[in-house]
Amino acid sequence: MIGDLPKKAAFKATRLTQTTFKIVEYNDIYSEHPFIYAKLFPALLLLLDTGCGGATNDPDVDLRQLRLFLETHPVDENSGEPLNKAGTKKYVVVCSHCHFDHILGVEQFSSDSLILASSHSPSFLSSKNIGKHSLCERLGILTPAYTPTLIDHLSYIAHVGVDTGMQVLHTPGHTPDELALWDETERMLYVGDTLYEWSPIIFPPQGSIVDWFASVDMLIRLVKRVQSMEPHGSLVKINSGHDTSMGDALNVLTASRSFINDVIGGKEKVKKKQEIQGVTIVYYERNDRRFSLRCPESLVEDARQKLHF
Ligand SMILES: [Zn+2]
Repeated sequence: MIGDLPKKAAFKATRLTQTTFKIVEYNDIYSEHPFIYAKLFPALLLLLDTGCGGATNDPDVDLRQLRLFLETHPVDENSGEPLNKAGTKKYVVVCSHCHFDHILGVEQFSSDSLILASSHSPSFLSSKNIGKHSLCERLGILTPAYTPTLIDHLSYIAHVGVDTGMQVLHTPGHTPDELALWDETERMLYVGDTLYEWSPIIFPPQGSIVDWFASVDMLIRLVKRVQSMEPHGSLVKINSGHDTSMGDALNVLTASRSFINDVIGGKEKVKKKQEIQGVTIVYYERNDRRFSLRCPESLVEDARQKLHF
């Protein structure tokens, strides 16, 4: 019977740990291929980001809603069960930042779930600015309607009586509202778009490389402290919003910092320069291509000036 055939979904879920899954929107029309993370508790599902809203290049895909995927789609690595079968678990949705490729699915949760975003710069997320800062206006797509609860640096996430043990870290840089999550129990760090490997680290005009260094230095200190307290424990893992997951956190953080430091210090040469809508965009790429950077030239100049390179 055709009605019983499993649907083809715009998402693929794989298990990372006992409680955590990575969900990839693998063929979206924006070529962003965002990573969404789901951490499962008995009565709660913590979702980090919501992807591009299911718009896919694949005409055979007939399951485009992230929430429907979570509640109905069998996941092999979850014993063939959906991650939140029949929607019995409540949701807390954390937005790593407001770029479109992380928030286009958020409306599916906005009426009955807790939606969290960084309290670092409320005006950046205001209803007046969100269309511009999410990049939805530039792409000519509707900005999702949602009103996040703003959460402070170092807060722990709890909802419906479940203490998730997940700590919020404000990590401005990529955007003012960028945040990271620290899962002490599983020694995992989730860094959104702050950094990743093998595709360009991007800064929009509202980003700041100066702030980025401060945020990355904070994350490096955290990982070093955790690993020094338990030197024979497992290494802290890093999970990004694209491309990198289950990486060695200290290695990925220090190596990407050193690449951006080489850019600001003039050791990396500009590979490409172009004018886009009146903004000069520069592109740098390390020879082995593990790290690259695309951002307005003004952000590089600003960092050189303020960091005294
Ligand atoms: Zn982004």
